[in-house]
Amino acid sequence: MKVEKCQHRVKCDFMGCRNLADYYVSTRGFVKNEFAFCANCMKGLFEELSKLYVPKAIESHFKPNRKRRKDEKD
Ligand SMILES: [Zn+2]
Repeated sequence: MKVEKCQHRVKCDFMGCRNLADYYVSTRGFVKNEFAFCANCMKGLFEELSKLYVPKAIESHFKPNRKRRKDEKD
């Protein structure tokens, strides 16, 4: 499965969303050939998925990164 930047003007596949798709998942026919979605829906989808599955490697990686970023701004 691959997520790629959408080059074509296709509509977001999420129900009720009228945005143009920014990305698509190439599933090779697993769901359908391509599942296109806009950046807004990707964010929503990711938030929902992260409630179900939190990758621990990323979570522990996040905290020092955030601190460093804040220090840079100040
Ligand atoms: Zn959308």
